[in-house]
Amino acid sequence: MKTAEYISLEDQYGANNYHPLDIVIGKARGVWVYDVEGRKYLDCLSAYSALNQGHVHPSIQKALFQQAKKLTLTSRAFRNDQLPLFYRELCEMTGYQKALPMNSGTEAVETALKLARKWAYEVKGIARHQAEIITASGNFHGRSITIVSFSSEAQYRDDFGAFTPGFNTVAYGDASAVAAAITPNTAAVMLEPIQGEGGVILPPVGYLAEVKAICERNNVLFIADEIQTGLGRVGKLFACEYENVRPDIMIIGKALSGGFYPVSAILADEPLLGLFKPGDHGSTFGGSPLACAVARASLKVIRDEHLAERSAELGEYFITELRKIQSPHIKEIRGKGLLIGIELKPEAGGARRFCEALMKQRILAKETHQNVIRFAPPLVIDKKTIDWALPRIRRVLRMK
Ligand SMILES: *Cc1c(COP(=O)(O)O)cnc(C)c1O
Repeated sequence: MKTAEYISLEDQYGANNYHPLDIVIGKARGVWVYDVEGRKYLDCLSAYSALNQGHVHPSIQKALFQQAKKLTLTSRAFRNDQLPLFYRELCEMTGYQKALPMNSGTEAVETALKLARKWAYEVKGIARHQAEIITASGNFHGRSITIVSFSSEAQYRDDFGAFTPGFNTVAYGDASAVAAAITPNTAAVMLEPIQGEGGVILPPVGYLAEVKAICERNNVLFIADEIQTGLGRVGKLFACEYENVRPDIMIIGKALSGGFYPVSAILADEPLLGLFKPGDHGSTFGGSPLACAVARASLKVIRDEHLAERSAELGEYFITELRKIQSPHIKEIRGKGLLIGIELKPEAGGARRFCEALMKQRILAKETHQNVIRFAPPLVIDKKTIDWALPRIRRVLRMK
């Protein structure tokens, strides 16, 4: 079948809730993907950072196959022999005492919110059902009804009320706005250390540390959503490390499974995560032996291949070279590690047409919001491949 036939089938039978570029991918390896016509492209999106380890990483694939031959799912009604090893490896790598595995990022965010509320009632002593959680404008934490309740994106919200109460949204990047929003009923502040979907927005230096200090002073939990920024993407294991901030609850997902299988988790210490009692929360597939085997292999790749260090080094090179491009369309180039955004001027006509032109140059990138092109290749990319991409990106950014 040809590209056009796949697209028309998809449009005929599928819900229309995405606006993909018109490429139909049939296989991939490392940083390269191949469409059904056999054309080769550089992936500069990495499935929103779920593919930090690159496509179809051989050792993760091997772990998946081997586990799939033995045992895939027990449910948490019984114990399995992968979950304890996953817990230990994840906790040793991240420095947290405990973890709770789920599937999608959205579910991990929901889990963190439930834990914060439980802490508010059982430990902080807030009157039941009165807990408030502070979030930031421009956030992206997922698509459930509770999560879109505090989205500032009209399209994510407007047709989907009634909403979950108990959230309060303040300006991103302004620590004093957080301080001003705290009340005796505040349970937690939840932030992305860099807003990925929001357009690769980096808060001012010192923001995270200041918010964390405000939380500590007020007996409020600090929750970091590092589903996109974590696990090496921004040049450290976690973006919060840049400000020596250790969140009370850390949320991870995406690259936790190297793109093979949905695996997410929250991390916290015993006094907090120990609050969940049997029956408080759960998931049929969360912590399945297959998920755990895949996640263990994915973490091992991040560690063994020094993906965070690679990201720091190559990200700095990539961004330095991008900044040399002379183009009338560029407003700003920003990023950390290999999470890079090129913001175009409003008069450039939107980032979408540039992403379509990049696709013709065999580079896959996606616009985020109207005017930002995100470059976030798998962290296994090398300098030679970045050098291959740069003249192509330059050509596209210089088009009329
Ligand atoms: C992708 C993402 C989510 C949601 O994860 P899903 O797996 O799509 O449910 C939440 N938070 C952030 C920061 C993300 O990038």
